Amino acid sequence: MKRIAVLGATGSIGVSCQAVVRAHPDKLAIVGMTAHARWEDLAKACQEFRPLRAALSDESQRSQVPAGAFPRETILEFGPDAVARIAAMAEADIVLSGIVGAAGLRGTIAALEAGKPVALANKETLVVAGPLVMGLVNAPASAAVPPGTCPPRKLLPVDSEHNAVFQALECGRRQDVKRVILTASGGPFRTWPLEKIRTATREDALAHPTWNMGPKITVDSATMMNKALEVIEARWLFDLSADEIDVVVHPQSVVHSMVEYRDGSVLAQLSPPDMKLPIQYALTWPERWEGVSPRLDLTKSFGLHFEPPDLQRFPALALGFEVARRGGTCGAVLNAANEAAVDRFLKRELAFTDIARACRDILNAHSYSPSPTLEELLRLDAWAREEMFRWKCSP
Ligand code: NDP
Ligand code: MG
Repeated sequence: MKRIAVLGATGSIGVSCQAVVRAHPDKLAIVGMTAHARWEDLAKACQEFRPLRAALSDESQRSQVPAGAFPRETILEFGPDAVARIAAMAEADIVLSGIVGAAGLRGTIAALEAGKPVALANKETLVVAGPLVMGLVNAPASAAVPPGTCPPRKLLPVDSEHNAVFQALECGRRQDVKRVILTASGGPFRTWPLEKIRTATREDALAHPTWNMGPKITVDSATMMNKALEVIEARWLFDLSADEIDVVVHPQSVVHSMVEYRDGSVLAQLSPPDMKLPIQYALTWPERWEGVSPRLDLTKSFGLHFEPPDLQRFPALALGFEVARRGGTCGAVLNAANEAAVDRFLKRELAFTDIARACRDILNAHSYSPSPTLEELLRLDAWAREEMFRWKCSP
């Protein structure tokens, strides 16, 4: 039995993880669950999975939760410290990091510091603090790892592109990799001219053509900031230079990404767009279990389309390559600026095309440092959010 602590259990990733566990009741169990404020959803999930511990990171929910809402055997705590305690709980064999935004950083770090493998959906962890987090992952293990088992402190990518690259990298030697090609759906505005993109509303941006995800990443997909963050994620996770990463638009979201080797072979991972597959592989690696997602039916005729990304219409993508190249404090600033910009866009305070513009302004304005501490990164995260809440479109 593999015992999982699920951080962000009520979100899109968390609910998909619940479905994976439900499909393998003899092999998977949830021992810890967290949410931010949606206590009803968390209580319902706890009634089903009966974890030992649960946490709501929003302290103000303490007064909202009625007695008896959670199972008697589940210890319920409140506040961000409680999330970190669940990430490090002794009873968990693996932690699913499924919180959205830089708020997920603390739980990921707590799990790694406690010597646990992490199934990482929260890409912002690596965008904000890639070198520090990979330093924890690559710290020498205190004991030898038995062959065929998952080492402690391993990062297993859940993000579908990185999970695909992870799988394709298992087919060759690292020194033979020429480049990694991340696929992008292109989002809802892939075919829209720039004049129309300028008028895009909240509703337009939230209507993703292939993936059903939480609101923040859905807006990120529409701006292609999601791909920018994924370029940075790949840079740290796989220790690639920015020049070894390419992005190609693939609207069907069937080819999840590719690795090109030096001999010209390109290895891809294909499956219908469904996060249950990468979540399950991250949880079961290096084993493969019976899948719970729909399968590709290659007997039906269908085409796979690829096209280059358009940086004129989607300038956020260029920010990703720039930040992957510069490193240092850039990831934390871009990520925080983007989180705050998406927030303002969803509140209808910013136009859609202001998101990338404002992120560019704030990235340019920050005082760069090449090897910041975690404290410096968190300070800059707060600074970038404040700047973004003040940002006004210049005429
Ligand atoms: P959702 O918005 O659907 O869910 C977010 C989860 O995090 C919820 O459980 C939410 O709790 C919790 N949460 C929100 N804010 C905080 C906070 N400040 N502190 C602690 N917990 C918080 O997001 P997604 O599931 O879509 O995305 C989660 C992560 O996975 C993101 O980093 C995203 O980029 C990544 N990802 C997601 C994919 C997807 O298909 N959805 C695909 C690839 C990567 P509550 O419900 O109480 O608000
Ligand atoms: Mg992705």
